[in-house]
Amino acid sequence: MIALYFLVATSTEEADLRAMWSVMAIVLMILLFYGIRLLELVYAYFCKKPFYVHLYLFPKRLTNEQLFVLQTQFPFYQKLTPRYQAYFEHRVRRFILKYRFIGQQGQPITDEVKVLIAATSVMLTFGMRNYLYTVFTKIVVFPSKYYSAATQAYHIGEFNPALKTIAFSWEDFVAGYQDAHDNRNLGLHEFSHALHFQCAKSHHVSAILFEKMFVKILQELKNPEYSEQLRESGYFRAYAFENRYEFLAVLLEHFFETPETFRNHFLVLYDHIQKMINFRDR
Ligand SMILES: [Zn+2]
Repeated sequence: MIALYFLVATSTEEADLRAMWSVMAIVLMILLFYGIRLLELVYAYFCKKPFYVHLYLFPKRLTNEQLFVLQTQFPFYQKLTPRYQAYFEHRVRRFILKYRFIGQQGQPITDEVKVLIAATSVMLTFGMRNYLYTVFTKIVVFPSKYYSAATQAYHIGEFNPALKTIAFSWEDFVAGYQDAHDNRNLGLHEFSHALHFQCAKSHHVSAILFEKMFVKILQELKNPEYSEQLRESGYFRAYAFENRYEFLAVLLEHFFETPETFRNHFLVLYDHIQKMINFRDR
């Protein structure tokens, strides 16, 4: 009887001990997770970049047809080293799989349409760890400019968070790449609006950096002399000064299309954008 009691008591103690270790392991894991996150935020504060950007356990591949589009029509991809090209392909594939592409008014959704749209977004966010959006779920493509019943006006592109939609006129999207240095790129422009909205709602390290640098850009604009200098230069089109959102979208178009001129004339702003999206030459 005593032996039986001893056995029962021992197994109960062992079960308690196991439960205690399990709880401690979970608490330690949570502490570790938040500890690393906190460390990364401190690191990002000083170094203006996350601990890491690209880490894919199961990298995805594009189909040969999709890859051909990147190889022949997307200079940003062509200039990457093979390692970064693989990362770029993975992101383009994930992007294509995540969003619903809808062709309107007879616009076909081909591999070219999907890849060039996805690649534009991936180019913009290539230095950021998080590159997929939750602020839209549909990508609507029209053959050319389209009439919007909501605004009662013609558009060539728009980001509509209420409808969780981003829309493009394909004719104008393609025109954005025909002259690579005219500082007009519809795809970059609309994705900049979506990214801005996304980062304002997110708490990951890349979004925090994006927001922090945006505040710095706005602080620069508060200087009347600097603001006047920006307008007077004629480098940024008048539309940039409509509001802060358009200003950022136009800045990002210039950043990708004429980086040398941008850097030479407005180094401080250029530097803020570079840190904002953690852009590095690869
Ligand atoms: Zn805009």
